[in-house]
Amino acid sequence: MNPIKFSSRINRLTGSLIRETLALTQKPGMISFAGGLPSEEVMPRLAMQNVPQSLGQYGMTEGEPELRAFIAHRLTALGRRCKPEQVLITSGSQQGIDLVSKLFIDPGTPVVIEAPSYLAAIQSFRLFGADFILHPLSQEGIDSEQWLSSILRYQPAFSYLIPTFQNPSGVCYNRTERESLAEIFDRTGGLLVEDEPYRELAYDVVDRHPLCGYLQKAPWIYLGSFSKTGLPGLRIGYLAASEDLFPLFVRLKQSADLHTSRIGQWWTHQFISSADYPAHLDRLSAYYRHKRDIMGEALKSHFGDIARWDTPKGGLFFWIRLNQSVDTREILKRVLEKNVAFMPGKPFFAADDPPQGFLRLNFSRSFPFEIEKGIALLGQMIRQQVQ
Ligand code: PMP
Repeated sequence: MNPIKFSSRINRLTGSLIRETLALTQKPGMISFAGGLPSEEVMPRLAMQNVPQSLGQYGMTEGEPELRAFIAHRLTALGRRCKPEQVLITSGSQQGIDLVSKLFIDPGTPVVIEAPSYLAAIQSFRLFGADFILHPLSQEGIDSEQWLSSILRYQPAFSYLIPTFQNPSGVCYNRTERESLAEIFDRTGGLLVEDEPYRELAYDVVDRHPLCGYLQKAPWIYLGSFSKTGLPGLRIGYLAASEDLFPLFVRLKQSADLHTSRIGQWWTHQFISSADYPAHLDRLSAYYRHKRDIMGEALKSHFGDIARWDTPKGGLFFWIRLNQSVDTREILKRVLEKNVAFMPGKPFFAADDPPQGFLRLNFSRSFPFEIEKGIALLGQMIRQQVQ
């Protein structure tokens, strides 16, 4: 018998706690704060009349020209000068993360990330063997001086940052921090990988100009997505990059899936170029702001004496730190029995010894009465566990 031989990287393949928890949350009656799914109530309708027959044919790896042009124009308006030839349409921004991993990471490659950071990016970087250099987040972003010393000491392949309404922490880097990080990128020539799927979900006024727009000469990669504003099931995202890096991504994309679904690209372009799109974004923000505020009030009533948090100015999550350092995975097991779910904080830290006592709460998908009921129950269960 010839035994099946896996590649050595399969030893580093980890399961997703998010996917496992999401499977449990499908149960009827479950109040789930676990996932990060947009609400179907404010999703655009999936009308597919008049799809050109020609889209049934294979397309270009780079993506549909009209969509690429639209994105380049938008990025340029946001301060990141970019030509359509620098935009690659991807199957969600998650594919951009996979392509970045493939392009830069070998076993032992140092990579800078925030602590905490996006779970599925950690998984992807880990699969390829990254050595993580972690930078704790404050409300202003990461500490630029500390980060500079990491760059000089470890010479990382790239720094993966989510400066706007970060997942899971909700942090939005302020302008001063964006400027000082950009200045260091320019000075050191470090590569920025900026991931920004939440930028349109803004509830308060903040600086959310892409960090890569502040760069003068450092290389950059920007990952964007229509999953939070359009239809995530279509899987339409994009990667824009400095001119020198771009052709490599096109070749990697070719060997991954030839190109992203042309019909999804067509629909997305129709949708984002329609006259109603700006009003749609306003409706989304108003809808999610309302839910954020309801969760904020419920937290004040039921978590005030057991936890600390900052109100997120955008995005989809509250990031909660309990006053006591308990394993929130144990709390999850118990609250699932009561039909409430959340994401424990541990897997968002790429450290060997992650800090305890964190949880991520999503507010986009539950109804207001569920938010109030679920937060009250969660507060009660946590109180029982920690006292
Ligand atoms: N980056 C971050 C920070 C995310 O939170 C997500 C998922 N919500 C993604 C990338 C992937 O999004 P998508 O593939 O749907 O564009």
